[in-house]
Amino acid sequence: MKTRSLIQREQKCIQPTYARFPVALVKGKGSRVWDLDGKAYLDFVCGISVTNLGHAHSALVKAIAGQAARLSHSGNLFHNPLQVELAVALRKEAGFASHVAFANTGAEANELLIKFARRFGAPNGRHEVLAFHGAFHGRTFGALSASGQLKLQKGMEPLLPGFRHVPYNDLEAARAAVNRHTAAILVEPIQGENGVIQGTDQFLVGLRRLADRQGLLLMLDEIQTGLGRTAKPFAYEHLGQDCVPDLMSLAKSLGGGLPLSAVLIGDRATKAIGLGDHGTTMGGNPIACAAGLAALKEIHAKKLLANAAKQGEFLMAGLRVAQARHPHLIRDVRGRGLMIGVQLNQPSRPFALALLEKGLIVNATADSVIRLLPPLNLSAAEAQEGLGLLNAVFDKPPLVKAAA
Ligand code: PLP
Repeated sequence: MKTRSLIQREQKCIQPTYARFPVALVKGKGSRVWDLDGKAYLDFVCGISVTNLGHAHSALVKAIAGQAARLSHSGNLFHNPLQVELAVALRKEAGFASHVAFANTGAEANELLIKFARRFGAPNGRHEVLAFHGAFHGRTFGALSASGQLKLQKGMEPLLPGFRHVPYNDLEAARAAVNRHTAAILVEPIQGENGVIQGTDQFLVGLRRLADRQGLLLMLDEIQTGLGRTAKPFAYEHLGQDCVPDLMSLAKSLGGGLPLSAVLIGDRATKAIGLGDHGTTMGGNPIACAAGLAALKEIHAKKLLANAAKQGEFLMAGLRVAQARHPHLIRDVRGRGLMIGVQLNQPSRPFALALLEKGLIVNATADSVIRLLPPLNLSAAEAQEGLGLLNAVFDKPPLVKAAA
């Protein structure tokens, strides 16, 4: 088998930082991908919410190829029309933002959020960022220090100082943790890596009010939830105008499958960072910006937010029926739009492997959660097919070895 020999070669040359599935994906079209041995899969992960329009989308291929043939890189020493166009489009999506700063990855965007918090607080001797247990903000040192997951931080100490963590969805704890050093609050509206844990309305609105009362910045990490994943442009919009951030980080699907991230900056924060305070060689690369613009256009032209709501409701309803049939196996079904978590009563990785075997790609996260992040243009037939495969595995679950 070609895959087996690839894995053997990989083991000799790639640093093993991932527990990868035993599959190498080499081709995709729409919601479907193919592996090195020619097997087809339905993709319900999208490279963790990156290929939100599916694979090899014609509008993205055109935008990427066209820009690659014109100019692939100019760097940030020059003005860049595509950055401007995308910034204007993002400002239209997120009414609070007056400016946009581009980077490449989610972690980098969050690093910039942390810089904003430090600079914003510095005149008043404030430097701390309040963050939450279970949070995932990325793997660079600032983002890792902001994350609330000890297992990722262990052995990496000393971490960046200046973060205080309290339990997610515990507004009282957040209020109690704010002190004269606090400059900002950093929070995911839905904790993705932590198992699709939704911030309650009361919690998120309460954080906005807390920030207002204490003169703090509210910084939302919408790297996973943003750009239609929850069937709204941004997850904070599920709360109307009650949790509008001062700053927001975006990445993942922003570049239409290419590396691109951004920080959207509201009026209160723009002055905190100025000339020479930040930089990136690749951030806001023209090809990635062209792809991002094409992706945004497609989301609106094809009414993909409405489709995400519809297919998400269908999947959630079907999964709740599965839960009623298998209450011993499925503890909870939760999520918004096409960001769905199925909380199992046992480890989720064997389920992800069994689903892979059947031809459905899902993600196992937070030990016992199956996370579904299908493309926003998933068809009704594909949603039905995916649900059928999930049901087949719930009906005949993989054997899980009892803990010794
Ligand atoms: N923030 C959130 C909410 C994420 O889900 C992720 C990645 O999964 C990140 C930050 C880090 O993004 P990246 O892997 O692009 O650095």
